[in-house]
Amino acid sequence: MPWVENKGLYILVLKLAKETTITIGKLGTFTFPPGTYCYVGQARAHLRQRLARHCRKNKPLRWHIDYLLPHVEMQAILLFPPNDTAECALAQQVAKKGGIPFPPRFGASDCRCPGHLIHFPAHHTHRILPTPTKSRNPLPG
Ligand SMILES: [Zn+2]
Repeated sequence: MPWVENKGLYILVLKLAKETTITIGKLGTFTFPPGTYCYVGQARAHLRQRLARHCRKNKPLRWHIDYLLPHVEMQAILLFPPNDTAECALAQQVAKKGGIPFPPRFGASDCRCPGHLIHFPAHHTHRILPTPTKSRNPLPG
């Protein structure tokens, strides 16, 4: 049963076809290896509007993810119920499936975790993602 509140956690599943050098605002310029990237975000309100913004092109570049999205193909958006503390934990849970937070501190300006963008080598997507709909609480504990 989906929840109806317009807020929650989400993962953008992004595919980068070839190695690409991208400047991510003040974070710096990085050479992104090809493969799948999972971006973990949270909207404390206006979740639908946030996701619509992620999908929109030609917008002012504000967040780290805005700088990356023009270069990648969005393959899926996974939704999770709101959980005030779970954004960083979800990013780390995703990374444990065989990914690496890259670039360091991406999307993590407001927290202390390794980063909210997780890179997986190409063709590795099928086993990396938690199941979004089975449980109201995707995180153990
Ligand atoms: Zn974090």
